[in-house]
Amino acid sequence: MMNVALNSLHARDITYQLHPYTNARRHEEVGPIIIDRGEGVYVYDDSGKQYIEAMAGLWSVAVGFGEKRLVDAAARQMAKLPYYHTFSGKAHEPSILLAERLVKMAPNGLSRVFFTNSGSEANDTVVKMVWYYNNAIGKPEKKKFISRISGYHGITIASGSLTGLPINQRGFDLPLPMMKHVGCPHHYRWSEPGETEEAFADRLAAELEAKILEEGPETVAAFIGEPVMGAGGVLVPPATYWEKVQEVCRRYDVLVVADEVINGFGRTGTKFACERFNIKPDILVISKQLTSSYQPLAAILFSDKIYQGIADQSAEIGSFGHGFTTSGHPVATAVAMENLDIIEERGLMENAAIVGEVLQAELRRFADHPLVGEVRGVGLIAAVELVADKATKAKFDPFGKVGAKFFQQGHEHGLIIRAIGDTIAFCPPLIITEEQIREVVSRFARTLKDIE
Ligand code: PLP
Repeated sequence: MMNVALNSLHARDITYQLHPYTNARRHEEVGPIIIDRGEGVYVYDDSGKQYIEAMAGLWSVAVGFGEKRLVDAAARQMAKLPYYHTFSGKAHEPSILLAERLVKMAPNGLSRVFFTNSGSEANDTVVKMVWYYNNAIGKPEKKKFISRISGYHGITIASGSLTGLPINQRGFDLPLPMMKHVGCPHHYRWSEPGETEEAFADRLAAELEAKILEEGPETVAAFIGEPVMGAGGVLVPPATYWEKVQEVCRRYDVLVVADEVINGFGRTGTKFACERFNIKPDILVISKQLTSSYQPLAAILFSDKIYQGIADQSAEIGSFGHGFTTSGHPVATAVAMENLDIIEERGLMENAAIVGEVLQAELRRFADHPLVGEVRGVGLIAAVELVADKATKAKFDPFGKVGAKFFQQGHEHGLIIRAIGDTIAFCPPLIITEEQIREVVSRFARTLKDIE
């Protein structure tokens, strides 16, 4: 174990917690960084050291840390009605107001909302909802989901099966057999020599079609994807990709599910990334920036067609037997309302589009660096992929070695990024200023110099 005072918070953390997404044995050696407080785009550890939070926590703290209006909104709701459920026809004001507001914001006329606590629960709910709907409309065979390699949809049993990353499946006996994966729309890594972005998109759409035909269109219920992939490495698809895959889905009566858990609320420079790529989803999943993650909350927005199918089942089955004790929690939904007020009043989605250009341009200045394979991103989400050999795009061996080193070294420079393998991801709070972006990039440059 590292040299920490007995009974310190560090020692107790090592003794008592199993951390998500953490190498347990390594954690016993190095211990935690204990984040104590936050202010704007900065967080501070328990020794008082300042870090610029270039990941907005986990892609989520849109309005920044220490936003008093959210604290007050939570306190007001706590005092008035700290908890009530939404089962058996019960309701409360904050969840009603938020559902209405989200429907008014939603793309493609999506008209109904179901609340969960997390993105994973939301995607598990999507799976169950689609199964229930297809049973209801007399298509009980239509149950398979198709997602993409490197897609991320969460870690529960169904959502973890939709996810296309080995780390979430190795050792967990996932994916479930009815979850199928097709190619990842990342041109730099997956295109063939000389293939244009457009030809690459066409090939992926053809691959999706072949997969649907191989499985049998009568068995394929839905296609799910993040418009811009986040946790898989910030992967922006070719401009024509979504148009092409949607055509295929419509041809075979396959529902389109847009997972905007990261993308939603201005992250990619438009309110929803569906607008950027002209995606017309049957189902939209949102979370994270919905409350700036001050409270756990996710929402599924879906079409009237799906709602009517589910509602018609009332005569056969009675209640829709799905929901969480804290679905639409009053404090979480009240905080979401206040958070959306702040985002709108301060023009944070517009800010993300403007300062996002600066982030993208500043990072692209590193494109010629010998360790940099690709700089990519859109709006206020970006990544720099580090490679062992720029010419051949060869990855480091072992994969992730340099990313992990960068992540640690970044802390020395007061920089919090996310290392996805050897890809360095950036997703700062939407409140970030141009000057603070330059500070992120300067700390990035210093860290890169250290690991050269
Ligand atoms: N979907 C996407 C696109 C995500 O990025 C995430 C989390 O990062 C999830 C779903 C899962 O959300 P949660 O961690 O809240 O379960």
